Formats: sequence, structure tokens, C-alpha cells
Amino acid sequence: MSINHYALSPDFWDCECEKDYIHSRKTLHCSRCGTTEEEQPDSRVNEVSKFHCRVYIGEFLLKI
Ligand SMILES: [Zn+2]
Repeated sequence: MSINHYALSPDFWDCECEKDYIHSRKTLHCSRCGTTEEEQPDSRVNEVSKFHCRVYIGEFLLKI
């Protein structure tokens, strides 16, 4: 089974930042570039897999 690298992930979206631009759906707004989840596209699965660890760690740190 191969991963479709161009598939979009419904759980994540991209903001306009040059790096760390993948946000989970729980984050509705990027405070760095000011874009919102509603107006931005879904993230690609292959990019999410590269970044999701960092995204999850970031959310975890925000909760504690
Ligand atoms: Zn941003």
C-alpha cells in the first residue's frame, strides 16, 4: 500500500507562514500570519507526516 503524497488531510490546514505552516483543525487561526482555518487550504498528507510531530508537541505544550 502506498501513500498518496498529494492527498489532502482533513485534520490539518496550511497557513501562509514559510515554515511551521501546518495547523491542526483545533487551531482555527495562525497568530503569526493572521490567516484562519476557514480561508486556507487543507494540508497535504506528505507534509503533515513531516510536521505532525512538531504540531502535536506544540499543542501539548500549550495545554500544560
Ligand atoms: Zn501562519
